[in-house]
Amino acid sequence: MRPARKPKPLGACTVCHTPTSQREMLNQRCHGVVYGRRCSGTLKSDLSYIWDECESCEGTGMVGTQACTECGGFGWRLYA
Ligand SMILES: [Zn+2]
Ligand SMILES: [Zn+2]
Repeated sequence: MRPARKPKPLGACTVCHTPTSQREMLNQRCHGVVYGRRCSGTLKSDLSYIWDECESCEGTGMVGTQACTECGGFGWRLYA
């Protein structure tokens, strides 16, 4: 049985493009780490973001039994 496709993330970081699916994380400082430092970006929900289904996991966030490393298990990547 294949895992279901994930819904698109709610938002993403303005700097490192890490997606988030948690509404309470929106407009908060990003928790991502960029070049060993805490990312200075903010998680925003932006309707202009274009989400691309992750090719590695076909939008499921899983490769076999492991979380997909390409998209961090979200199943989507921000088109940039
Ligand atoms: Zn970030
Ligand atoms: Zn993936």
